[in-house]
Amino acid sequence: MRIAVFATKAYDRRFLDLANAEFGHDLSWFEARLDETTAPLADGFDAVCVFVNDRLDAPALTRLAQGGVRAVALRCAGYNNVDLRAAETLGLTVIRVPAYSPEAVAEFTLGLLLAMNRNIPRASARVRENNFALDGLIGRNLSGRTAGIVGTGRIGALVARALKLGFGCEVLAHDVVEDPALTEIGVRYVDRETLLRQSDIISLHCPLTPDTRHLIDGPTLAAARPRVMIVNTSRGALIDTQALIDALKSRRVGGVALDVYEQEGDLFFEDLSNEIVQDDVFQRLLTFPNVLVTGHQAFLTEEALTAIAVTTLSGLAEIEAGRIPANRVTADQIRPAP
Ligand code: NAD
Repeated sequence: MRIAVFATKAYDRRFLDLANAEFGHDLSWFEARLDETTAPLADGFDAVCVFVNDRLDAPALTRLAQGGVRAVALRCAGYNNVDLRAAETLGLTVIRVPAYSPEAVAEFTLGLLLAMNRNIPRASARVRENNFALDGLIGRNLSGRTAGIVGTGRIGALVARALKLGFGCEVLAHDVVEDPALTEIGVRYVDRETLLRQSDIISLHCPLTPDTRHLIDGPTLAAARPRVMIVNTSRGALIDTQALIDALKSRRVGGVALDVYEQEGDLFFEDLSNEIVQDDVFQRLLTFPNVLVTGHQAFLTEEALTAIAVTTLSGLAEIEAGRIPANRVTADQIRPAP
């Protein structure tokens, strides 16, 4: 298949090239993100391969279809950036990588939580400056705290297990589908409001849908436990960032660790160290000593990149062979609100 790979970084190219030895697709690399304006670059290609911040809205998909593209391969799990109904109408097959390495994301989530809770980035920065004072670095034990996991799919289930069995937390969970294996180890499913009200730690692992957008907002933050710690490695818009900033200013929130951000499309995955960042909300977020932000890197392990490359290219091979690909995403998969 002739595949236009958008938003390509050196590591994408390395892992896709390695995996392609088995498939023999014709891969072309584009650094640009895919959106309506860059879609003409894919004219004459059979498929496009995209990532989390490419924008596949109806105009972009229409332009792709006009240029002959018939498949969209997301090299990620989330598909909130694709208008699936428009894709279906245009006859475009959309595939994704549902489970490339939930361990990679779960491990990073725990890393963020531990680092934020124990002030590890601040401590490390101090030591580099020969400042060995411990004031301001006091953390809290995780053991015995209540952790709430929103979304107990592949990643959330691993985080719930680690917090319950590894760290001795009480674990509450909320999902539209309950996982009996988690109930068996003592994880307790509750409704979303109860979870958000009763948790000392809230970790988000559900997809971004109309129902989950801004699930952490002003009212939920006002009702949350004092000094609640919030971790988000799922999708930025699960949190109303302005409301989060207000709660941080009033010291209601104990700590925040984010690998994703609502407006990350304008920032993440690029080196902007010589630029003036125009996003004042993001810049304000970075000023809090109890906020830790990384740039959407929870997936970034060798194992995950290998799995992403192999799954993406084999999905495209299935389409080429005229089969319905196993990892196809259809508009019906957008879950209705519970
Ligand atoms: P998954 O599909 O296995 O699990 C998602 C879970 O959320 C499912 O159990 C589903 O039933 C549940 N869910 C759906 N709607 C819900 C709702 N309204 N309320 C509560 N739960 C709901 O997905 P996963 O592989 O565990 O990934 C979770 C999320 O992590 C993805 O949606 C993706 O956005 C994000 N992700 C981020 C990175 C990163 O690098 N930061 C990498 C991979 C995935």
